[in-house]
Amino acid sequence: MNITEIRIKLLASQRDKLRGFASVTIDDCLVIRDIKIIEGGRGLFVAMPSRKLCDRCPACAGKNPIRARYCNDCGHRLGVERGDIDDRGRPRLYADISHPINQAARDYVQNRILEAYFDELERSKQEGYVAQSFDDLDYDYLEEHSGEDR
Ligand SMILES: [Zn+2]
Repeated sequence: MNITEIRIKLLASQRDKLRGFASVTIDDCLVIRDIKIIEGGRGLFVAMPSRKLCDRCPACAGKNPIRARYCNDCGHRLGVERGDIDDRGRPRLYADISHPINQAARDYVQNRILEAYFDELERSKQEGYVAQSFDDLDYDYLEEHSGEDR
């Protein structure tokens, strides 16, 4: 597998741990968008695109994210302990839409993306820098996190 193109969107805000988005092209054939570059406790890491897991309200059968405490549709109070538990005993809130199948592939993808991220970061410090065009930002994520840490 060859990554033939990487586009990086830097996020200037230091409000949360999201540092940027990446869009990766594999073998000039397949594009994976909506990859997140996140500042973790042990440095930067790459999070593959994922979707929020949902379940159904017992009162009205409306769909709600696992994390929701009240139904979006009817306001019914939802149980705290819902959904599956992951390896670390925490509720599973997201499921990967696309991800590498082994550690070697994971390392390759992550290293290439972080390299591209640091290149872009360097470029952004130069005069006349123009950000790469990006039409695929995860606006749900941005919206959801925009109110945090204020
Ligand atoms: Zn409901």
